[in-house]
Amino acid sequence: MRSIKGFESTEFKEESCDTIPFERLIVRARPEIVALKSPISIPEKIGGEGYLEPHEWRQAMESANKDYVLIDVRNNYESRIGRFKGAIAPDVENFYDFPQWLKNENIDKNKKVLMYCTGGIRCEKFSTYMKAEGFKTIYQLHGGIINYAQKQGGKHFEGKCFVFDDRMAVEVNPQESGPISKCAISGVPCDTYINCANMECNRLFICDRQAAIQMEGCCSEECRKSAHRRPLDIENLYKPFRRWYKYFNEKPTEAMDEQP
Ligand SMILES: [Zn+2]
Repeated sequence: MRSIKGFESTEFKEESCDTIPFERLIVRARPEIVALKSPISIPEKIGGEGYLEPHEWRQAMESANKDYVLIDVRNNYESRIGRFKGAIAPDVENFYDFPQWLKNENIDKNKKVLMYCTGGIRCEKFSTYMKAEGFKTIYQLHGGIINYAQKQGGKHFEGKCFVFDDRMAVEVNPQESGPISKCAISGVPCDTYINCANMECNRLFICDRQAAIQMEGCCSEECRKSAHRRPLDIENLYKPFRRWYKYFNEKPTEAMDEQP
């Protein structure tokens, strides 16, 4: 890849795991990577300024004087199961909802902003957007949560990191004491997602194994009565059923155009 013109300095994120998390590889040309749907001007030089390296990020998390606003630049279903302590986790389902969220939030533009996402791409875009909106000082976690987990052992991150592959979620901080989220059915501490077995619903929701058996994989009693229900496959309960689909849309058939 690096021998191809334009890719010389591409940063690749490497991670090892003992399962095959990607069923297939698809390469597509897109007009916009991780759609923000708001025009931003591409900075002349990407990188360098505005980054916090994992060790610097950790120092910031540990500083006594937290003179910054900490923003989780991921979707609500991602931050729900894991985030940095003290972070603002916007209740948005799509990355392109962030500009509207920012508008409603009224954050002081003179206040220092720290932001993070999974691998860093969303921060590149949203920091550029925020700068254009007049925010003076923005720092992003270089390489995102995954890189931070590798370099700093995930310190100060609570819960798991949602990933867009067959693993669904990965551990960030081995010293973390357990799920920060609850099963949507039974309320027990839980951080595993399943898609509702009612194919007309297909909602992604946090569900404990016991509750999944009890509800036959459905998110509600109403869904359980549906005629379009997939049989519950308990062996593969936590394998995403429709990972390429947008989980929260009213119409579950709209394909997810890419993974952030
Ligand atoms: Zn449902």
